[in-house]
Amino acid sequence: MQKHCKCGSSMSIRLRTVIYQNKVEIENVPIFSCDSCQRSEVFAEVKPELTGIIGQLGSLPEKQQLSFHHISEIACLMKRVTEKQYASAPVEKIVEDRINELLDLLLLAQSLKDEPWIADVRKRLEQVAKHSVSVNDLA
Ligand SMILES: [Zn+2]
Repeated sequence: MQKHCKCGSSMSIRLRTVIYQNKVEIENVPIFSCDSCQRSEVFAEVKPELTGIIGQLGSLPEKQQLSFHHISEIACLMKRVTEKQYASAPVEKIVEDRINELLDLLLLAQSLKDEPWIADVRKRLEQVAKHSVSVNDLA
């Protein structure tokens, strides 16, 4: 997946660590960056989740490290696409495996009648369904 920078060069997407307020490290955030002018921008589709985290942290956050791939399903899928163990697997297979994992979690959450957990897993399934097209573009 490629995107053009304002300077005319192409931008590539990578998972990078974002530092918020010099205190919070958010690792594995999908970011587009330009090799020519170093401009970078957050992948538009993960912005709602990223701004959600930053909103929760507030203006005086404690020093901490967060893993964006545990919060955003698209970051989770991107991380897998770039992992060695999945190097030869087609993206469809990676997405399918993740959906199966989430469905197993959903069954477990439902059997425990854990409503917040059920809602969380449902939200993740929606993210995967909505974003699997853009993850495909990465391959
Ligand atoms: Zn540029």
